[in-house]
Amino acid sequence: MSKQRKPAVLLEYNLKQLKLPTMLKEYQLLAKSCCQEKCDYPTYLLRLCEKELADRQRRAMDRRIKTAKFGLLKTIDSFDFTAQKSVNEPLVRELLRCEFIDNNENVLLIGNSGTGKTHLATALGFAACCQGYKVRFFGCTALVTQLLEAREEKQLQRLLKQLEKQNLLILDELGYVPFSKAGSELLFEVVSRAYERQSLVVTSNLPFESWTEVCGSERLTGAMLDRLTHRVHIIEANGASYRLQQSRKRLARRKTTTE
Ligand code: ADP
Ligand code: MG
Repeated sequence: MSKQRKPAVLLEYNLKQLKLPTMLKEYQLLAKSCCQEKCDYPTYLLRLCEKELADRQRRAMDRRIKTAKFGLLKTIDSFDFTAQKSVNEPLVRELLRCEFIDNNENVLLIGNSGTGKTHLATALGFAACCQGYKVRFFGCTALVTQLLEAREEKQLQRLLKQLEKQNLLILDELGYVPFSKAGSELLFEVVSRAYERQSLVVTSNLPFESWTEVCGSERLTGAMLDRLTHRVHIIEANGASYRLQQSRKRLARRKTTTE
C-alpha cells in the first residue's frame, strides 16, 4: 500500500467502526471544497460533523414515522381549512407545536364521518414525530383486539409497557364498533396509565353523552372521560363530509360540461 493511501484506508476503517456513515461518504468531497474555500481544519471538521448529525436526525425521524404506523400518512399541508370551517385553525396550528405533549395534555377530535378527524390526528402525530416525540397510531378497534389477544397470550403487561414508552398515543375512531366488557376495561387501562404521563389524541364520531353505547358501563365511561378530559383540547369538526363535498363538486363540474 502506498504511503498516501494508508491514512485514507485507516480513516475509512475507523469511521466505519465509529458508525459515522455520512462522514465516511462525504469526507473527501468536503475536503476538496473546504480546500478551495481555504477553510481551516476546525471548520472542515465542523461541517463534516454537521452533515453526520443532520443525516442521523433525518434517519431517526424516518424511523419514528415508520414505527408510529400511521394508516395513511397525511400532513397539515394537505388539509384545506376552508373546506372545514368548523375546525378551529388557530388551535390546530398551536397544537402542531406539540407543547401539549410536553404538558401531558390530550386532544379530542369530535365530529361526523369524513370531516377530517383522522387526517388531523395523523397530521398532529406526524408533527410530533418530526419534533422528536415517540408516537403510536391505533385504530381503537384494532387496539382493543390487540389488547385482548395479548391478554390471552399472557403478553398484556409487555404490550402495556410498550405503549407506556410512547409520548403520544393516537386512538382513532372510537365509536364505530362497540367494545365487549373486557375490551372496554382494557382500553380504560390504557387511558388511565396514560393519565398525566402521556398524551392521547382520540378521534370519535360520537358526542360524549353517547360514549356509554360503545364502552358499555356508565361508570367506566365516566371514569374514562374524566381522565381524558381533565386537561384537554377539543377540536370539533361539524361540517359536511369532505368526501361528499368533493363528489358533489365533481358531479357539478360534470353537469356543466355536459350542458
Ligand atoms: P374522518 O376521520 O373525520 O371520518 P378523514 O380524516 O378520514 O375523516 O377524511 C376523509 C378523507 O377526506 C381523507 O382522505 C382526508 O384526507 C380527506 N379530508 C377530509 N377533510 C379534509 C380537508 N379539510 N382538507 C383536505 N382533505 C380532507
Ligand atoms: Mg376517521
